[in-house]
Amino acid sequence: MQTLQHTFNSAHIELIEDKEGNLIDTKNYCSDYCHKKSNKNYEGWNGLNEISFDQKCDNKDCNNVIKGVN
Ligand SMILES: [Zn+2]
Repeated sequence: MQTLQHTFNSAHIELIEDKEGNLIDTKNYCSDYCHKKSNKNYEGWNGLNEISFDQKCDNKDCNNVIKGVN
């Protein structure tokens, strides 16, 4: 079965922090929808971010690609 794939030019970013509030990881999603679906601690819209390299959406159920600026 072929899954539909779209390409996006900017990412919706989830910032993952430790208990002290230090940034330890980020996840990049193609859309606010995927961000909300994957992030249990969703803290609000954080879209239109440029990322460095092309990557797949971090929502495991999504096949969309986010284009990097390089
Ligand atoms: Zn997605």
